[in-house]
Amino acid sequence: MRKKFIAGNWKMNLDSRTAGSLVQDLKEKIAQGNFACCLDVAVCPSFVYLPAVVEILQGSQIKIGAQDVYFEGNGAYTGEISVAMLKDIGCQYVIVGHSERRHVLGETDEIVNKKLNAVLTGGLEGILCIGELLEERENNQTEAVIERHLRQGLAGITAEQMSRVTIAYEPVWAIGTGKTASPDQAQQAHAFARGILADIYDSNLADSVRIQYGGSVKAGNAADLMNQKDVDGALVGGASLKAEDFMGIIQGGSGKSNCCCCG
Ligand code: PEP
Repeated sequence: MRKKFIAGNWKMNLDSRTAGSLVQDLKEKIAQGNFACCLDVAVCPSFVYLPAVVEILQGSQIKIGAQDVYFEGNGAYTGEISVAMLKDIGCQYVIVGHSERRHVLGETDEIVNKKLNAVLTGGLEGILCIGELLEERENNQTEAVIERHLRQGLAGITAEQMSRVTIAYEPVWAIGTGKTASPDQAQQAHAFARGILADIYDSNLADSVRIQYGGSVKAGNAADLMNQKDVDGALVGGASLKAEDFMGIIQGGSGKSNCCCCG
């Protein structure tokens, strides 16, 4: 059974004070709720707040991810951050291929693939974001986009390395818009993505890979989405910026019926 995985992507939000108090609050609330057996939780602050968040989260079950990384190991790449640097400060996950990086900052599938390769080779875990634009959905290209993002994003990634990859299906039209995919739409896309993983690797491996849904997830829709057979958690933007909202999503994902060990 796949353990659910809920990650908060803070994007370019918060400051040192609000980031610190958010994570302190989450640490306390999660410790009280004892969610460790039911799901994995991570937060992905901006680079500059990562060390402070790592420090506050010492001893917590909450894991820490970065929102991006550069694929080269070191050298003359002004402004960039390497996998080794993230590992050095205590990061475990890295998001790659987020739609804002693809569509606002111009990242290609090739760049996304190089980043994922660097993350895995460097010993961290990757969250590979995939998903279609509104016009692609309207032109019946959703499956073609999912397939392209997976095949090109995972090029050269071995079956062994896949144990450190989470896929995040994030339809771009649902990100930050308040328009969530319906549980059926999410399930269909996730099942399709899992089929592609089975084709690239094999069905056992495909069954073991966690596929998060992302796109306007809130406390009110989290349980319905995560109750879908192939939806293994959530990548959360806006609703991860307030402890209460994020906790509502975590509770939705850890409902007794979803929990692998609570019954
Ligand atoms: C995201 O940025 O990955 C995301 C899903 O954002 P939101 O939850 O705000 O739609």
